[in-house]
Amino acid sequence: MLRVGLTGGIGSGKSSVSGLLAERGAVVVDADRIAREVVEPGTPGLAQIEQRFGATVLAPDGTLDRPALGAIVFADPAARRDLEAITHPLIGIRTRGLIEQAGPDALVVHDQPLLVEMGLAPMNHLTVVVGASERTRVQRVVRDRGMTEQDARARIEAQAGDVARHVVADAWIDNDGTPDELADRVAALWDERLAPFEDNLRADRPVLREVCATVVLHEHRPEWEARAARVVARIRHQLDAARIPYAGVEHVGSTAVPGLIARDVVDVQLRMHRFEDGGDALAGALRAAAIVGLREQEVRPHDWAPRPADWRTLLAGGADPRDVLRVHVREDGSAGALAALSFRDWLRADTRERTAYSELKSTVAHQFSSHDYPAAIERWYARALPRAREWAQSTGWSPG
Ligand code: ATP
Repeated sequence: MLRVGLTGGIGSGKSSVSGLLAERGAVVVDADRIAREVVEPGTPGLAQIEQRFGATVLAPDGTLDRPALGAIVFADPAARRDLEAITHPLIGIRTRGLIEQAGPDALVVHDQPLLVEMGLAPMNHLTVVVGASERTRVQRVVRDRGMTEQDARARIEAQAGDVARHVVADAWIDNDGTPDELADRVAALWDERLAPFEDNLRADRPVLREVCATVVLHEHRPEWEARAARVVARIRHQLDAARIPYAGVEHVGSTAVPGLIARDVVDVQLRMHRFEDGGDALAGALRAAAIVGLREQEVRPHDWAPRPADWRTLLAGGADPRDVLRVHVREDGSAGALAALSFRDWLRADTRERTAYSELKSTVAHQFSSHDYPAAIERWYARALPRAREWAQSTGWSPG
């Protein structure tokens, strides 16, 4: 099952996008709707609210008087916490129930207006944000919802801003254009990303092979850092949820070095205190973060740490066909874990070595086939590692 979190500010077109995704076969779970359902007349939720806040929060027809309740919790943080203590568990149970009902091969779109405000992005496999300029959004809600311009701007002001939304967005759907343009963008997102993503996830098939088929090098992209941060947050969330202890998760590899050219592949290292800590649950926790195909990687020890165990690495890959990802699981303090971190920090610190590595990469990419590229890079890496070690020792470097 693929779980997609969908969000966007008021009037951005989020509901239009969830409608279009539902037409393609997605199961839409609507957070706003669930929040209303759990406090409908006759529900235990409404009974608990009445017990805590009194009959004044009920309208004459027995439904929840939202403005009356809103006035109470707006002025009193303790009352607000009490309300949340009633509604949040009920919302959680209903949401989980709907997601489970969707079935193992479903593509679930969780429409979460407060995804950013509540920090929910790491729980999903992919976050899609619908965006439109403030001007467009105000025009739409004034036109279609009869809201005043002032009210619309106040609502926008009270929500998360575009900068915070961009931070969590794996995919950004721009909806400043026409409804037809929106439909085309959603269709492309479905065909090129969501459907193959779900397929890869179900088949436990990482998106690594295609990447290795070509060597296209790019100038450093700030987007790589943001991508890695989203992956790190997902991994941490799932390991914590599964109560698997770990020492650290960090962005490593060429995309973690500003100024270095790199393939469009983000590498993340997960350091375990001991491999056994993960056990069989590790693969499950990674899969919940859309990272699949966990397996032993062939290792090449180096002279200064000749035991293969020092380099033991489990490798997994992302199931997202667009943002290609490799996850290297190593033991904390092992030669492999330290090498990945010190190599990154050495290249970040040493402009001359960074430039030399960039030049070597582009030469190798031109001279060798994509098949030979990794081996050629590996030869350079083997010679460079002792220099990175010397640098680490002479500067008193320590990981993290
Ligand atoms: P809210 O957060 O208030 O629920 P929303 O992000 O779900 O808003 P929608 O309800 O999908 O937004 O869209 C707001 C209004 O703008 C709707 O009336 C919708 O029909 C209209 N709309 C959406 N996309 C477009 C578009 N590309 N061009 C014109 N109108 C649009």
